[in-house]
Parts: sequence; C-alpha cells; structure tokens
Amino acid sequence: MTHKKMETLLGRQGAYLDAIYYCPHHPEKGFKGEIKELKIDCECRKPKSGMLIQAGKDFNIDFEKSWIIGDSERDLIAGKNTGARSVFISSERSEYADFYAKNLKEAVDIILNME
Ligand SMILES: [Zn+2]
Repeated sequence: MTHKKMETLLGRQGAYLDAIYYCPHHPEKGFKGEIKELKIDCECRKPKSGMLIQAGKDFNIDFEKSWIIGDSERDLIAGKNTGARSVFISSERSEYADFYAKNLKEAVDIILNME
C-alpha cells in the first residue's frame, strides 16, 4: 500500500498521521539495478531505533509514555530500545513484547485501556 493511500484510508476513519518515516537503505548488496548510495549500514533500518529517535526529536516525544505496535520482532526491538512499551501483532511469541494483539484495532484497545 502506498503512503498516500494509507493516509486516505486512515483519514476516512478519523485517524491522522503527523509523519511517515521509512528507511530507503538496504544493507545487502548484489541486486540488479540497485542504487549504490543506498547500500549502507544505516541507523534507520529496524531493529535500530534511528527513525524513532528522529521522530522523537521532530515531535518532542516522551518515549516513556509511548508505544510501539509492530508485526515483526524488529519493530519491537526498535521500540523497546527507546523505552516505549510494545504490542506485538503476531501469533508468534517474543521476549520484546509487553502485550499481544490479533490486529491493529485490538492493539489500540489494549493501549487505550492502559492509559
Ligand atoms: Zn536506513
């Protein structure tokens, strides 16, 4: 799904995004047509927390009061390293998960019930 389409669908439900961050880099080399400048071992690729730290600066986020919702363990690790609590949308188990949810709606309900 493109970011524009995601924002449109979310907006219809009354949810708005302050920003979208993504990592354009890819550390593994050797693909056809790859862009050499993006083949770096960056700080923004999860499980590193670079994107979250940048968002924290941009929006003055208190990570102790924040949550990471993710469907991969790399998401959870990136979030936990900032001090955020985590909700894992997965049938798998993870030592980095504070809570588990079946879907985004359930994750949101868990968080709202904690606040
Ligand atoms: Zn990156």
